[in-house]
Amino acid sequence: MLDQAQIDRLKRTDAGGFPVLSVYVNLQPGPVSLRNLPARIKDLLAQVEASSESLSRSERLSIREDVHALSRDIGRFGPDLGHGVAVFRSSGAGIDEQFALPGPVRDRAIVESTPYLRPLEAMIEHYQRYCVAVVGRRFGSIFRFSMDQLDTWEEMRDEEIRKANYGGFSGYEEQRVRARADEMAARHYRHVAGRLAELKRSDGGFDLLMVGGSDSHVAGLLEALSPDVADLSAGTFTIDPGTMTPSTVLEHARRVAAEWEVQEESRLVADLFDAAASGGTAVLGLDQACEAVNRRAVEVLYVQAGQITPGSVCADCERVTCETGTVCSACGGSLRGVPDVVDHLSESVRGAGGRVRHILNDGPLAEVEAGASLRYAVAMVDPT
Ligand SMILES: [Zn+2]
Repeated sequence: MLDQAQIDRLKRTDAGGFPVLSVYVNLQPGPVSLRNLPARIKDLLAQVEASSESLSRSERLSIREDVHALSRDIGRFGPDLGHGVAVFRSSGAGIDEQFALPGPVRDRAIVESTPYLRPLEAMIEHYQRYCVAVVGRRFGSIFRFSMDQLDTWEEMRDEEIRKANYGGFSGYEEQRVRARADEMAARHYRHVAGRLAELKRSDGGFDLLMVGGSDSHVAGLLEALSPDVADLSAGTFTIDPGTMTPSTVLEHARRVAAEWEVQEESRLVADLFDAAASGGTAVLGLDQACEAVNRRAVEVLYVQAGQITPGSVCADCERVTCETGTVCSACGGSLRGVPDVVDHLSESVRGAGGRVRHILNDGPLAEVEAGASLRYAVAMVDPT
């Protein structure tokens, strides 16, 4: 499974001055069909060859070798690799890495001096660790769900409630047996809830919880959760334990997670826009975000995933900017063009102890591309 350690290792890879070709290919059938997959990859590679004309001879040869190597085995790109795939190659530097991705990506090919990792980082940061608890009358099936993968975590089973034979019982007896059954059920819910609280504190833990089962069992477990676990609730789903399989649980988990993420993202973006509107603690737009990042004032950088804008980095003052000239407007140093300005903004934000949050769903942020919440309010510049 994709993890931060793999990304960090790639980041430390030294390409020794050779260009690195990073290729992302979407493998999830959607608006674009998989039938034209080979054509899509060929297009990407043709763009790479065209844009590498300006490189030095040895760099161009390295890229050409990478393009030819990928063209030769276009056939190996298929949905069996995951929802998407990322390939990093530099024949000059001897780099050849491939990652199966847990989610869809935008098709893209980038040539830079280092592997282009922003889509991978966006993916890692986006995947929450969910605990999925399916509860029945006397069992609890607990799963982990993350990166589109569902694994069994624990199976719990409480004592069967003795089958009561109501025939011949008086009304009083029947009531007593029913009360006993309710008490047993409540104890079972408390038992499962207690275990969930332990798992949350355990190594690995989880960020969010979803509960499935019949409506009454779901309600029973939710009621028994301790407040700190109840706070993590991302949603519920109705499932018949009798016909439940790992793949049906996975389908429910995907749906609940997707719904939660849409809500969470729109809440974050709405808060960002509110803060920007009330002045001082947030900025909107790529230029303003650059400016705040360069002042090291960014707490959280919000970027719309999938969008990509070229920019520059100053070799002298390290300023990241959307400017595309050759001279830094701040210090007069020389600007180096970069294919994705947000990638460099993200590095700078993380380096200064801030966080980066990619917004995957289209909303108001898509129109301004980026925004940032700030560590401190910016003094308003007097327009007079
Ligand atoms: Zn500069």
